[in-house]
Parts: sequence; C-alpha cells; structure tokens
Amino acid sequence: MVDLQVLARDVHAELNGEADRGKVADYIPELAKVSLNKFGIAIANLDGVCFTAGDADEAFSIQSISKVFALALALGKVGDALWRRVGREPSGSAFNSIIQLEHEKGIPRNPFINAGAIVVSDIILAGHRPREAIGEILRFVRVAANDETVSIDPAVARSEQEHGFRNAALANYMRAFGNIRNSVELTLGVYFHQCAIEMNCVQLAQAGLFLANGGCDPRSGISVVSRERARRISALMLTCGHYDGSGDFAFKVGFPGKSGVGGGILAVVPGKASIAVWSPGLNAQGNSLLGTKALERIAQRTGWSVFGT
Ligand code: GLN
Repeated sequence: MVDLQVLARDVHAELNGEADRGKVADYIPELAKVSLNKFGIAIANLDGVCFTAGDADEAFSIQSISKVFALALALGKVGDALWRRVGREPSGSAFNSIIQLEHEKGIPRNPFINAGAIVVSDIILAGHRPREAIGEILRFVRVAANDETVSIDPAVARSEQEHGFRNAALANYMRAFGNIRNSVELTLGVYFHQCAIEMNCVQLAQAGLFLANGGCDPRSGISVVSRERARRISALMLTCGHYDGSGDFAFKVGFPGKSGVGGGILAVVPGKASIAVWSPGLNAQGNSLLGTKALERIAQRTGWSVFGT
C-alpha cells in the first residue's frame, strides 16, 4: 500500500521546480492575476481523510470543474430528458469551439464543453430566478464538499461577464435553434457564476468523494446521486473532461478527470479516492500542465486505473 501522504509530498516536491509550467488563462482578465508558481495536491480517501501538499489550502477558481456538479444537479431535475438537448460524445475540439454547433443543429456534443454546460445552466434556470439557480448550484457543491464556506468570487464572475464574447456567441447561436429557453443574458449569468465558484484542493477533493464512492457521500452516508448516475458522470469525465486533450488524459492517467481553466483538475478513482490538483499554468488544450503531470505520477505509483489493476 502506497502511503498517500508521502506520495502527495513526493509528487509535489518533484514537480514544483519545473521551469515549464504552461500559461495562465488570460482571456478572463481576473484569472490572469493568479501566480504561475501555485501548486497544490489533495488526495481524499473514502474515509474522507485528506492527504495534502503545497498550496492545497488556497482557494482558486474552479471554472469548468463546476460543470460536473451542475450536470449532477440538472440530471436530478430532468433526468434523461437532458440528453435530448446535449450529446454524450467527445468533441475533439476546444472547450469554447462553435464549429460543430451548426452541423449538429445547436445540440452540443457533451455537457462539459462550454456550449453543453450553458445548456445545462439553462435547464437549472428553468422556472427560477438566476439568483435561485446560482444558489442551488452553490448549495449542491457545499453539500458535496461538506463545507458551508464554499463561495463564489464575484470579481471573477464579473470579469467573465465583461469578456465572455465567445460564450455569448455560443448561447445566442443555440438560442436560434431553440436549445436555450431562457434569455441568453440570464442563462449566461448562471453559467458565469457557477464557473466563478472558488474552492481549495481539500474542498474539491472532498466534493468528488460521492463520485468515487458510487454516488454516496462516504462520510455522511447520504446518497447524492444513484450508483448508475455516478458511473455515467464519471464516464463522461473520462471521455470529455479534458476537451480535445481527453484521449491523452485517459491514456496517461487512466481514470476520470475534469479540468478547469483556473488550473484545477478533479479526478476520481472509483472505489479508492478523489483527487484535486491545482497549478494555474495550462497546456495547449487549456488543461493544467503540472496538474496533469501530477495525476500521471499518482496513477503510476498507486497503480490506480479504471482499466485494470
Ligand atoms: N468559464 C470558462 C469559460 O467559459 C470555463 C472554461 C474552462 O474552464 N475550460 O470560458
């Protein structure tokens, strides 16, 4: 048995000196302010015990990692009807790409590219005010993390609102096909606020435990989603969680993960652990460069994989 505390510390120490740390996202100006030197790791086992290294206690913008929680919430609301409006195939394109939408008549490839996540936000917003929908997403994350202090950074939400031209294009385009039902402005407001949730690695690793444990929070015993749903969300994380880098992530790491442009990655190892890594420098596909390397080393040394032991 690998000592997870030693593992977290070793992997952090080995990679922390790397000169090539990727590039911090700057299309959201507020994210560009974060130091490239940050690097944190948290590994939570199924007893909820967390093993940490580096900046694991420092909050960062979870960005697209929020799409996992929003999907779980939306599925709880509308069930499989969600799949009439969003696909389940990897896109092979960038997270903010618009090109497939025309061919596929406004139905996004999957719920983790921006277009798909905007539809999921639109589903959560249905019948609510934006404030209520945002509150519901935040509550879901707080319950999953077992931490009432998780919050939204309004400066990041504002920054994205002011510069989110591509997301506005995606939402308007889908609205033209009837796949956005609320006003584009309100739906985007929900989406930007969910992306602006800030968490540290410890909170994020804890929040992923229900997925690693068949849908049930192992600390409270509360069933967050059904076992089948946890498996399916995890399958989508593996096939679509890193956009056009998803194949490479599956190849190198071998268990489900979801990245965000804030430099975080949430990875779940079914039956074993939930892992959060954070380093704000991104690779060409917009996924954390050091974070991916860290998960690769963790996978190698533990032998954890969904493809056999
Ligand atoms: N809020 C970001 C955006 O819409 C999320 C993208 C990401 O994390 N990959 O561009």
